[in-house]
Amino acid sequence: MAAPQHLRSSSSPAAALLAWYDVHRRVLPWRAMAGERADPYRVWLSEIMLQQTTVQAVGRYYREFLSRWPTVQALASAPLDDVLAAWAGLGYYARARNLHRAAKVVVDDFGCEFPASFEQLKNLPGVGAYTAGAIAAIAFDQPYLAMDANAERVVARLFAVEEPLPKAKPRLRDLGQPLVPQNRAGDFAQALMDLGAAICTPKKPACKSCPVSSYCEAFKRGIQEQLPRKAEKPVRPLKRGAAFVARDVSGAVLLVKRPANGLLGGMLQPPLGPWTEEFPSIEAALAQAPFSAVWKKRLGIVRHGFTHFELEIEVYVAEAIRRPKQFNTIWVAEANLPTAALPTIMRKIIAHAFDTDGPLFAQASAARRR
Ligand code: SF4
Repeated sequence: MAAPQHLRSSSSPAAALLAWYDVHRRVLPWRAMAGERADPYRVWLSEIMLQQTTVQAVGRYYREFLSRWPTVQALASAPLDDVLAAWAGLGYYARARNLHRAAKVVVDDFGCEFPASFEQLKNLPGVGAYTAGAIAAIAFDQPYLAMDANAERVVARLFAVEEPLPKAKPRLRDLGQPLVPQNRAGDFAQALMDLGAAICTPKKPACKSCPVSSYCEAFKRGIQEQLPRKAEKPVRPLKRGAAFVARDVSGAVLLVKRPANGLLGGMLQPPLGPWTEEFPSIEAALAQAPFSAVWKKRLGIVRHGFTHFELEIEVYVAEAIRRPKQFNTIWVAEANLPTAALPTIMRKIIAHAFDTDGPLFAQASAARRR
């Protein structure tokens, strides 16, 4: 469907985009309805969740958080462990720790009101320049650019930027900022994101239905599908190790808490050995086990991709007749596992340990990628 003529003949890209947005805006759980004031708490919560995560994945988590902690005060008062458990599965767990810290800062330093200034927003834990711009624009209607991946793609095509991402990010910001209108900056930010999600899609953008096609340099040159270019990702190194899943006679599972900071900080896991280039031999693995028992190695492996490396884990299982007395261990009843603060990789390991129909993955990678 071609864009209506009045959209294509608008006086600026912003005017054309806003006219399109008034008709086609997405309904999202965290978004204020047309004419409503956005709630800064909801905007902030959704923007933190949406960092490196898709709209589809965020929806369920956002609704759960809002129903458990409807205000920033409620979130600030919640135990960190509860916040981490509710975040489990969403990934990038530093976000959850920073979310909790930022809620406390808003309560303690700003009297429970989110600051409206870009600089003060940027100083909140977990809020970088992009997120501060998005909150300033969407919650406070200030003329800041909010550049998520959708908006980046639109700007890269509008200006036919050939420099690959992520290096092109500062240039895209410089090119995009002058497009932001003084009025309706929040709607403009969301319109840019919606255009990228619905029309200016990564593959086969619907340029004939696009309200800003007459301003689009990539469309004019017929190179829209080649943009934005992306730098080749370096090959991620592979790490390997062993996990130990123990159950007691009631079916409860032995878990330990990871250190508060660093990868998966503060989350729960079954005991794990160190991650090295190769799997440990059975003898070496048994020396890493949390206590003496009849540990049986499951067939197959569990595989998981982190941002900077890939992980392959062999899983050992045991039944504990009595719970060994150890510090810093937690026995979690099977019924409580679904709500425990277990990241996806640890859930995969436990599922693999309990799987009676065969291993999740039959073979480890043939070659090490280093
Ligand atoms: Fe994207 Fe095509 Fe619109 Fe250009 S004309 S912004 S490439 S959808």
